[in-house]
Amino acid sequence: MSTKKNTIQRCSFCGNVYSDEDSTFSGINAKICNDCIDIYYHIMDLSRPTYYVKSKPSRLKFVPSYLYRELNNVVIGQERAKKVLSVALYNHYKRITSNDETLEKANILMIGPSGCGKTLIAKTLAECLELPFVICDATVYTEAGYVGEDVENILLKLLQRANFDKEKAERGIVFIDEIDKLARKSENPSITRDVSGEGVQNSLLKIIEGSDVNVPPQGGRKHPYQEYIKFDTSKVLFICSGAFVGLKKSQNSKPIGFLKTINEESKPITNEQLLKYGIIPELLGRLSVIVELDPLTEADLRKILTKPQKSIISEYQTLFALDNIDLKFEEEALDAIAHLAYQDQNGARSLRRIIEKTLLDPMFILPDETNTNTLTITKQMIEMNNNNT
Ligand code: ADP
Repeated sequence: MSTKKNTIQRCSFCGNVYSDEDSTFSGINAKICNDCIDIYYHIMDLSRPTYYVKSKPSRLKFVPSYLYRELNNVVIGQERAKKVLSVALYNHYKRITSNDETLEKANILMIGPSGCGKTLIAKTLAECLELPFVICDATVYTEAGYVGEDVENILLKLLQRANFDKEKAERGIVFIDEIDKLARKSENPSITRDVSGEGVQNSLLKIIEGSDVNVPPQGGRKHPYQEYIKFDTSKVLFICSGAFVGLKKSQNSKPIGFLKTINEESKPITNEQLLKYGIIPELLGRLSVIVELDPLTEADLRKILTKPQKSIISEYQTLFALDNIDLKFEEEALDAIAHLAYQDQNGARSLRRIIEKTLLDPMFILPDETNTNTLTITKQMIEMNNNNT
């Protein structure tokens, strides 16, 4: 009988402990574990040759540092949010892959002004983890039984995104935007019926808290004689998001001068403030990770134009290249776009609108022309086309 002993070793890269059969390569002074090799292939964007791929899924593939690096390729600024969410999503991944029932899910609340990257961060992370992802607008839902959409339809969307693979959908991510618009109207619970505010918060609570929910397969309203799909939401990650306009200022009801205002602005938002704003305590209790995003600076907006892997400028250059036109932007033109967008106070969304306005005429005319090979956008062109913004 073989007496082969399974010795324990430590990977020289991640420091984790592995058994003999787990470690793949060892040199004279170093060993590399399978998980580190997986990460390398991921970073280099290569697919690993099949004879190296282990059958067991590699948890370490999605370590926070990897998710953070992926976010850095697309998201400018928001350093703290990128870090907090990389950790939160890694923990979520561990919860859904470990099958350990004692691990409670930690839903997320993202607070930040419009167009600062909340949706972009959530979507990028969902793509990294290869999880089904849906975006919903909280304002379209009403309390069950009232005119409007039922919250169960959110889960139907998730099922559709997962091609009706229920197991996959039950591990997906739901992004609920404009949650702040559901703030209850009065500080005292339900004096009058608040079907589109507090009522929806209560309905959302039922799906967020993790239970079996009956989902109508055809969508629409629930119907007593309909067959339902039983959907377990205990592993669905909910990311709620909102601008919560005026929240920071409300803390400082009696301004005591400039310095005090700055101080209050930089203080983290508290649960108490969120409750006062009108989020019901039961829902807030289910959102255990709260992350604030910063308003984008003019310098951030300038970087967003060209720095991300698939930047807005490169996107328009690709569009023009399909008509054999080399689209160029003078540096001053890019500065002017960032400057105008910053004045707009609508985050990065304004960048696209300003470019779109400037390029409308060229996009209309140039496809008919065969003798234009280059189009250079100047500062004057930007300003002339956007002087009413
Ligand atoms: P919101 O915070 O309202 O959810 P989004 O994430 O939808 O904003 O941003 C709208 C668009 O603006 C994105 O698709 C992206 O092109 C751009 N954008 C916003 N914030 C950033 C950012 N921090 N870095 C890079 N692009 C951004």
